[in-house]
Amino acid sequence: MALNSRLLGLAFASADTLVEIDGGGRIVLAMGAAPCAGHSPEATWTGRSLTDLFEARSVERLEAALTDLTPGARSEPLDLMYDLGRGTYRRVRLRLFSLPELAPHLSCALTWLGQPFALEAPQPTEMLSRDDLLRQTSGLLAASGSDAINLAFVDVTGLESVEPDRMEGLKAHLHHALQSVSIDGASASHLAGNAYALLRRDGDASAVEDAIHNVAALEGIDVGADVRQVNLTNGRDRHATLRAMRHALEVCITNGALDAPDVTFHKTLDRTLVQMDSFRAMVKARDFSLHYQPIVDLRTGAVHHFEALARIPGSDGPESTIRLAETLALIDSFDLVVAEKAIQQMKSPGYGLTHIAVNVSAGSLDSDAYGEALLRLSANDPDIRRRLSLEITETASIADLEGAQKRLARIRKAGFRVYLDDFGVGASCFDYLNHLTVDGVKIDGGFVMRACEDEKSRTLIRHLVDMCAGLKLKTVAERVETGQVAELMVGLGVDLGQGWFYGKPEPRPRLEPPAPPVAARRRGAVESWG
Ligand code: C2E
Ligand code: MG
Ligand code: MG
Repeated sequence: MALNSRLLGLAFASADTLVEIDGGGRIVLAMGAAPCAGHSPEATWTGRSLTDLFEARSVERLEAALTDLTPGARSEPLDLMYDLGRGTYRRVRLRLFSLPELAPHLSCALTWLGQPFALEAPQPTEMLSRDDLLRQTSGLLAASGSDAINLAFVDVTGLESVEPDRMEGLKAHLHHALQSVSIDGASASHLAGNAYALLRRDGDASAVEDAIHNVAALEGIDVGADVRQVNLTNGRDRHATLRAMRHALEVCITNGALDAPDVTFHKTLDRTLVQMDSFRAMVKARDFSLHYQPIVDLRTGAVHHFEALARIPGSDGPESTIRLAETLALIDSFDLVVAEKAIQQMKSPGYGLTHIAVNVSAGSLDSDAYGEALLRLSANDPDIRRRLSLEITETASIADLEGAQKRLARIRKAGFRVYLDDFGVGASCFDYLNHLTVDGVKIDGGFVMRACEDEKSRTLIRHLVDMCAGLKLKTVAERVETGQVAELMVGLGVDLGQGWFYGKPEPRPRLEPPAPPVAARRRGAVESWG
């Protein structure tokens, strides 16, 4: 066969190197690219046995493929480890062709993959736990200066086809390979199932893919990797980045999404980082509004004050954005802009007597920033302080109750009133009541809504009202949707009520009376209900 038709074979196989072996497996012709500089196939391979070129485990697979090859056919591609000598290898994809006009000779087309690497025997490698990964990330972010830090997510594919008795060895090898391409060789973590995460300096993820493919070729197992990298040092606040990472881990683990291809960890983190940036931009541009819902004196129906509720463009309700902002420790800046907007509303013409309550996430009381900024905002304005109250929402927990109490005491001393929101649902509501000095509690809407049908809810509310009376605290019933519930609350001794019965949240505080008062005359009438 002429050389040019052999070259055609090379082009046909779109390979880098073409080898021809005789019936005994000896190389009679080698041409094309070398696996590394100074290593000419023609000069170094001719006359040697093809199987001499590869690492021992690859040889077994090559021999099996040579035996299986039928005349006129070509083999499936085989990823093998080419032995460069002195413990160095390079992965190569090999295809065998049995061309009838060459028989008994065979052609082999080789495509070089990845880069040459030194193979160490895989030692049992400790992987970081998720918490250690977060700790390590935190340390590296704090110390990295201008160095880039990337977080690579690796989903190892094809593990399900690995025979159980080979799994342990394969995993040890994989762990070793992943650690070796992570920062300091010790920043890889096994998240769950086939999901891994590792910290890297290099922005190019291909070294991680290569590491996995090298293991696959060495072990002769058909595993692959889906690798995505996220840059953690991309001009973002590092503290918040870390929180985003924790959040993404939690979301994925809680939803069991680490195995779900459409909700992968890197996508969750990517999305979280984007949401974080857009939340910051929204707060900076003050690009959201407040709606106002009346809170009335249950006995007279007169408006006592309005609750300001955030309305965020493009979202159904504020809750998911607020939860995310709490998780990412961005809530205090938001709560402050809410206070600023409410104060603006109180200062606008016609609203000089209006009292407003704003929601403040418990997370905003974890540092001095919110309280100090609130005092600055209302400096020299005792009337505003008297007319603005805070509802502490318990969705984020207070890390330091003593510190929060000191901050709240300063805020109350300045003239603001403070309520505990959604009382009764959170695990720590009594802890809060015990440690924080407040002016009132808002009874969670869930109890209020159930109260007509459910004796237990009524008993709880009655006892809560008694306790608050003893502590000289005002009580507010949330989610009063009907006149029947309003009457029941009057009967149970609750002071104030809020809910659709009195009015939904609206873009401006509604100054005219919202609804006919529930007759105080009927006070006590509902006691007989339970
Ligand atoms: P929340 O402070 O308990 O506010 C009361 C929620 O109940 C509001 O939902 C309100 O629209 C809704 N609501 C009022 N009356 C009724 C009723 O009769 N029936 C029913 N089913 N619902 C009623 P919204 O506006 O979606 O707010 C949800 C939560 O988001 C708030 O609960 C609060 O925890 C949080 N939030 C809202 N604005 C802010 C804010 O500016 N800062 C912070 N940190 N949290 C906020
Ligand atoms: Mg509230
Ligand atoms: Mg509430």
